[in-house]
Amino acid sequence: MEQAFRLLKIACPSCGTARELKIPDSIFSEKKIGFIKIQVPQGAVCNDHDFMILADPKGKILGYETFDVAISKAKEQLEEIKEEQSTGPTLQGLIDIYGFNCIAGLIHAKLFGYSSFMVSSLNLNKDISELKNIIESIIPKPYRNSSTIDKIEYDGKTFPSPGYYYSILTSRRNNVFLINPYKHVIQSPWEIDIEYEQMIINHALKRDENGIQFKVLTEFLQRLLKDVDEAKFILENCKKISEKELIKELNARLTLSSINKSRMRLIKEFINRRISPELAAKIKK
Ligand SMILES: [Zn+2]
Repeated sequence: MEQAFRLLKIACPSCGTARELKIPDSIFSEKKIGFIKIQVPQGAVCNDHDFMILADPKGKILGYETFDVAISKAKEQLEEIKEEQSTGPTLQGLIDIYGFNCIAGLIHAKLFGYSSFMVSSLNLNKDISELKNIIESIIPKPYRNSSTIDKIEYDGKTFPSPGYYYSILTSRRNNVFLINPYKHVIQSPWEIDIEYEQMIINHALKRDENGIQFKVLTEFLQRLLKDVDEAKFILENCKKISEKELIKELNARLTLSSINKSRMRLIKEFINRRISPELAAKIKK
């Protein structure tokens, strides 16, 4: 008999690497209610980390758990962060608590003007004010305070299955970024990927001086905004321009950046979302 599989897109909560994995249907059919935990060994999704997936019986991913950052360790880190209060939490500390792709997505959302929500049940009273402040402070000043990071709480008694609640929520609010406290991205409203944000986080993590990592992120974003300004100037002074031609012009004008196709996509998306859709529409394929 042929075995049935379910294809799950799984993202490592520690480094963001994503891969589709075939999970045998039998794993899900064993349980009718509650959660299923699936162990993902090192090498299956990413080469550096092992972790667990929390899924519902229908095969919907509800969250991730990291082994080394199991409850005791997470608590320890929270304590550490409290002790570090004078210098503030680190980027790695945030990733350990919220997950790599949730942090990358929050930066993307804030930069491109999407609202973000952490979805959690009422009994899990998670304070996200510190997270909000940090993400806000990473974004260069003229583009701060544009979109919210907030919480959506649901009653676990009315909705015992989070997967079902997520389905209702995503059909009603399809233009917001949704995460949960289990390091899982429930919904990304954008079509562009978040490779850029993943890249700048990885660069920032390599700088180990405490306190400098968030500044490194801001410097990256400032450089992107410089490229955007230059593109804006070119677009304001032409009727239309091909993407290829614009890349050529930007490379001739900008000495510090090298514009390739993916950078161009970011610049175009930024102009479209944050400056003017009409201006972005002047860029032709
Ligand atoms: Zn990883």
